[in-house]
Amino acid sequence: MHVAAILKAKGRAVETVAADETLGTVVALLAERRIGAVVVRQPSRAIAGIVSERDIVRMLARHGAATLALPVSEAMTRDVVTCRETDTLDELMSRMTEGRFRHLPVEDNGQLVGIVSIGDVVKHRVAEVELEASAMRDYIASA
Ligand code: AMP
Repeated sequence: MHVAAILKAKGRAVETVAADETLGTVVALLAERRIGAVVVRQPSRAIAGIVSERDIVRMLARHGAATLALPVSEAMTRDVVTCRETDTLDELMSRMTEGRFRHLPVEDNGQLVGIVSIGDVVKHRVAEVELEASAMRDYIASA
């Protein structure tokens, strides 16, 4: 299975913020949308960074409640690893494991076209394995 199949099922909407917005805005977005990360966009809509709940927790440990007024640029990861629609689930799993993160923005020609989380990958991988097991059971039953 490829990233394109995941995007087809979940859609291409990605929550984004600008680097000069506050972490308070990010916290509200994460809570409202029930997500774990937002992509930071440049004015051109290219990817400038990513900020996840882990970054917020790190900032809270360091700055306490003042965190909410700080700009996103202070907390975001700038070197963002991305994937493409043609990548396989196995490629995504190894990229997430190696990088120790749970989100991969999807890029096409330098433009953000979606985002895949570890939850999406696990959900589709489990469905794939169940389908394979069911096909195998049918094959054995008909032999
Ligand atoms: P996460 O597991 O996604 O909550 O992220 C853990 C850490 O990795 C945080 O510091 C994120 O900013 C960072 N991170 C998340 N996704 C990516 C990514 N695709 N590329 C680089 N860093 C990331």
